[in-house]
Amino acid sequence: MVEKLVIVLDVDETLIYSSTHTLLNRPPDFVLGGEYFTHIRPGAIDFLKTIIADDRFRVGIYSKATGDYILEFITGVGLKESDFELIFDRSRLVKKVYDYGPWARGRGIEYFKDLKKVKRRLGCHIDRMVAIDDIPSNYPRSYGNVLRVPEYVGECDDNIFIKLLECLNMLYGADDVRQENKHIYDNYDT
Ligand SMILES: [Mg+2]
Repeated sequence: MVEKLVIVLDVDETLIYSSTHTLLNRPPDFVLGGEYFTHIRPGAIDFLKTIIADDRFRVGIYSKATGDYILEFITGVGLKESDFELIFDRSRLVKKVYDYGPWARGRGIEYFKDLKKVKRRLGCHIDRMVAIDDIPSNYPRSYGNVLRVPEYVGECDDNIFIKLLECLNMLYGADDVRQENKHIYDNYDT
């Protein structure tokens, strides 16, 4: 039997756009945490419901946001915590300290996401995991698993989820997702 495909979703600029300012051209879909005006990416709710209902997929969230923020997001898009097999918030990030040497001032600290933590939790194989994120460098240890989506900043005309579903169908059939071409849009600008 083919192992299910684990889909690990980012939240901000991937599924929604949240800002302390309202957008001029339209009202927010909901207000998150009492302070963030939040716009849902067009098609995101249908996309989430589709992959959650699909037996071929296991769906989780991995975000640099707080746990409360993520739970409010889930409610805001009309879903339940139990719809997701995994919810990893900022407490699940890996911290890396860069020492720039004696000539640099101080040290740099970066936090990133680590699919090994997901693998450990879900007991899946690394070649069956896809991380959907607008920032591939969130996963410096597993670029091959990242399916990059364009950053979402509140546009009304966005149809990325159609392509995303096609790509996920293709990846389900692949032996190793890391070997497949995951460029889902034409204007791959960076
Ligand atoms: Mg993001």
